[in-house]
Amino acid sequence: QTPQVIIIGRPNVGKSTLFNRLVGKRIALVDDQPGVTRDRRFGEAVLLGMEFTAVDTAGWEDEDPGSLPGRMRAQTEVSLKGADIALFVIDARAGVTPLDEEIARWLRGQNVPVVLVANKAEGRAGEPGLLESYSLGFGEPVALSAEHGEGVADLFEALQPLI
Ligand code: GDP
Ligand code: MG
Repeated sequence: QTPQVIIIGRPNVGKSTLFNRLVGKRIALVDDQPGVTRDRRFGEAVLLGMEFTAVDTAGWEDEDPGSLPGRMRAQTEVSLKGADIALFVIDARAGVTPLDEEIARWLRGQNVPVVLVANKAEGRAGEPGLLESYSLGFGEPVALSAEHGEGVADLFEALQPLI
C-alpha cells in the first residue's frame, strides 16, 4: 500500500489538473458514496519515480459559499482520515483568498502534514500570490504549474521526506 496524498483546496485552483498530471490514466477507483464522500477520485500517482496514491477532492466545491463549515468540510474531513499527507493547493495568480484562509485554519487543526502548493505559477503572474501564500502558515510554498508541468521536481522534493 502506497502512502495516500490528498489534494485539497477551494474550487478552480487546479486540483483536478494536478491530479490528472500525477495520475494520468491510472485512476484506480471512483468513490461515489452519496452524500458522504462524493466526488473523490483515487489514482496511482508517479512523480519522478516516487509512487503514492493521489486523492482528488471536490468537497469544498458543492455548497454555496455562504455556508462554509457544513457538509463540504465534513466530506473533506472524512477523506482526510485515510490520508498521510495533504497537498493544499492555492491559485498563485489569484493570491490568497478568504476561503483559502478558512481552509488553512481548518487544516491546521487536522493531524496531517501539509504541503502548500501555489499552482498556476507559470510566468510572472504568480509571483505576488506566491509571496502572499507564506501568510497561510505552512512554510515555503511549492510553485507549480499543473497545466504546463512546471515545478514537478520541487513538488517531489517537498513530498519525499514525508513519504
Ligand atoms: P479544481 O476545481 O481545483 O479541480 O480546478 P481544475 O483542475 O478543474 O482547474 C480549474 C481551471 O484552472 C481550469 O480551467 C484549468 O485549466 C486551470 N488550470 C489548472 N492548472 C493550471 C495552471 O497550472 N496554470 C493555469 N494558468 N491554469 C491552470
Ligand atoms: Mg476538480
